[in-house]
Order: sequence, then C-alpha cells, then structure tokens
Amino acid sequence: MSSSSPSKVAVIGGGPAGLMAAEVLSSAGASVTVYDRMPSLGRKFLMAGRGGLNLTHSEPLDRFLRRYGPATERLRGMIEAFPPKALIKWAEGLGQQTFVGSSGRVFPKAMKASPLLREWLKQLEAQGVAFRPRRTWTGWTDAGELKFAGPEGDEVVRADAVIMALGGGSWAKLGSDGRWTTAFEGAGARITPFRPSNVGFLVPWSEVFKERFAGTPLKAVGLTFAGRQVKGEIMLSAYGLEGGGIYALSSALRDAVEGQGEAVLEIDLRPDLSAGQIENKLARGRKGESVANLLRKALNLSPAAIGLLREACGVNLPATPTALAALVKAAPVKLTGCAPMDRAISTAGGVSLDSVNADLMLKARPGVFLAGEMLDWEAPTGGYLLQASFATGRAAALGVLAYLRN
Ligand SMILES: Cc1cc2nc3c(=O)[nH]c(=O)nc-3n(C[C@H](O)[C@H](O)[C@H](O)COP(=O)(O)OP(=O)(O)OC[C@H]3O[C@@H](n4cnc5c(N)ncnc54)[C@H](O)[C@@H]3O)c2cc1C
Repeated sequence: MSSSSPSKVAVIGGGPAGLMAAEVLSSAGASVTVYDRMPSLGRKFLMAGRGGLNLTHSEPLDRFLRRYGPATERLRGMIEAFPPKALIKWAEGLGQQTFVGSSGRVFPKAMKASPLLREWLKQLEAQGVAFRPRRTWTGWTDAGELKFAGPEGDEVVRADAVIMALGGGSWAKLGSDGRWTTAFEGAGARITPFRPSNVGFLVPWSEVFKERFAGTPLKAVGLTFAGRQVKGEIMLSAYGLEGGGIYALSSALRDAVEGQGEAVLEIDLRPDLSAGQIENKLARGRKGESVANLLRKALNLSPAAIGLLREACGVNLPATPTALAALVKAAPVKLTGCAPMDRAISTAGGVSLDSVNADLMLKARPGVFLAGEMLDWEAPTGGYLLQASFATGRAAALGVLAYLRN
C-alpha cells in the first residue's frame, strides 16, 4: 500500500468481528470506513456484557478448538494466530484487566462490555477509522459497488476491498437481522439456512409448575443427552429450559427436536452423589414422612428441583428409595421444540465456509472478505463465539492486506 494514496476499505458491520478488522486494517495504513445499519456500534457485544462478558476461555488450546465441531479445522489457523492469550492481552491494552472464573471462562473485571467498547471506539477513531452508522447495506450494483440505504437516501460506495461482518440471525433488534443472505445468494455464495444455537427449549410444563418456578435457576446440575454429559446451571422458564448447561448441549438437542419432534434430556439433581449414596440417605427417612419433605431434608433439594421431579414422572413421586434415587439421578424431561431463533444467543448457518478461501475471501466475488458469526460455524457459550468473531475479523483483515498488495 503506498503511503500517498492509502487503499480504501469498507467494513460493513460494526460488531466485534468488523471492529477488529477495522483495527488491523487501519493499523496497517488503510483508509477504513465502518458502516452499520444501527445508530450506534457493537449493540450485540454490549448485550453480551449484560450477564457478564465472557470474552474467551482458559482451557488448553486443543480442547478449545474442538468446541467448533466440524468447523474446527477451518478456524484452527485463525484462532492459533489470535488465541485466547492474545485476546486477553488485547483487552488489557484497552484498560480491561481480566480474570478466570471458576469454570475456566475469562471475563473482564468490569464484567461489562461498555468500558471496553468505549475505549476501543476511541482508539479506532484516533487511528483514523471513520464511522457511518444508520447505513444499511442492501447489495451490489452491476459494477460491483456497494449499495446502502441511509437517512439521506440511497448511496453507492466504491472501495478497493470490503469486509463484511454482518452477524448471525438472532436478536434482530440489535442489528444482525440476517436479511443480507439474499444478496449473497445472488452473488453466488452458498448459504446454509440459519438455525438457533445456544438456545432454550420448549417443555410442556404444567400450569402450576410454570406459575411457581418460572425464573428459578437450578445450579450445578448434571445434564445428559445422547451419551454426552455436562454440568452447569439451568434456568426454568415459562416456555421451558434455558441457561449455560442447556446451551452446552443445544446443537445436539436442536438436531434431535428438529429431526424427531422431541428429545428427552436427563437431569441429575445431585451430580455430586452416586445413586447408591442417594438411596442410603433416602432410606434413613422417618416413617410417614412425605416424599417431598424427605427429598428436601435428606438431599437438600429445593422446591423447584422437587417440582421438576414431579413434572418428570407425573404428580406422584416414586415411593421406594431405589426408584426415587434413580429419578433424582436422571429425571427425564421431554423437550418438544427450540425457543424462537430471535431469542438464541447465536445462530448456526450463514455463508458456507466452502464459499470462502483460506483468507476468508468470497470465491465468487474477489475483494470481498467475510468474518464473524455470518460465516457458518457454531460453538457453545464459554467465550468461543467472541473468540472466533475476533479471530476471523483479524484474519479477514490480513487477507485484505495481502489482496491489496497483489
Ligand atoms: C444475549 C447474548 C449474550 C451473549 N454473550 C456472549 C458471551 O458472553 N460470550 C461470547 O463469546 N459471545 C456471546 N454472545 C454472542 C456474541 O455477542 C456474538 O457471537 C458476536 O457479537 C458476533 O460478532 P459479529 O461481529 O460477527 O456480529 P454482530 O456482533 O452481530 O455484529 C454485526 C453488525 O452488523 C450490522 N449489520 C447487520 N446487517 C447489516 C446491513 N445489512 N448493513 C449494515 N450493517 C449491518 C449489525 O447492526 C451489527 O452491528 C452473546 C450474544 C447474545 C445475544
């Protein structure tokens, strides 16, 4: 890139992936403009910080990479080049000290995204990045220019290279509405339909259960589905179940409910005790004591946990310690569907990884590079979504720099 006439790069989408691309490009001397359809940038990132911004995870990199399932090999090089350690260092460079939580997840000490985003945008502006909010990208002209709809009407923009980081298909009110897929199909990209990921599931709870326990968490329960076991928190909601433990199994559960109409999840309410230990504790109960009282006293189960056991087996709980212990260890809960996609933390689907080259350039449209959740990969919660969004944003920017050099 010659210093007298810097290359003009348009970044469309001002979420974590687009902003990281803008940072790398402007640091290398490109003239960068970030366009976003919303009045302000990083809205989903800010939302991610609402319940504690889980930036990344501290587990060994090999295990970390396996969280991306079938996309692992495509993402490996990009995440190895910008691994969790680099992300932590980067956040610290923006004044955000981090800590590792008990589950190994990494958070900024402030827990929120707002101080990090504020500092980041300030730094990008100081680096010369221009921001054009309220511009919705609507497609390409026949000559390959970018079309935008904005407050002053339609605009056409020509750029030497483009980074698209338009996000997935959930939480449309935060900006990522997934409407861009039509223009991409028209441009020859293969689109895998969006599917909810890290999403809650519908459970036909009884009215009584819903009324009493919607909004109650069950902490540190064990969950088993299709031979996979995880431990985590679940949240009882009026429509069914949500929360970190559920999200960890959500891609397998989603595939099952979509394929077979339902899935049976087994919930272990005392994963710290064996069935035998539970049975012994229950056998020590007083004669004539109600089963609910016994569960509360002997196993310290909460009213919501006992309610869940009743939902799992019909109103009458089993009377023998053996049967009751088996139920506590594996209460079957029937899931009958996914919560609406717009409520999902993230989405699977988007532009197929076959449609981009190793530098994330769209094969059908040279000079257009893609990053973040709009690409077809998925991962559980735990910081994997942001890590891959940042890493692909950086990789796409490096791809643009290599393209502009040629
Ligand atoms: C409630 C919630 C909690 C979350 N918590 C975490 C967490 O703790 N850890 C974690 O790793 N991940 C978390 N995530 C997921 C994470 O926020 C996303 O994976 C990440 O923001 C994706 O980054 P992105 O840059 O690819 O897309 P986005 O952040 O979605 O940004 C895309 C941008 O593109 C813009 N855009 C879209 N279409 C157009 C268009 N046509 N024209 C112009 N602009 C357009 C949008 O307005 C948006 O600003 C959470 C998500 C949610 C909803």
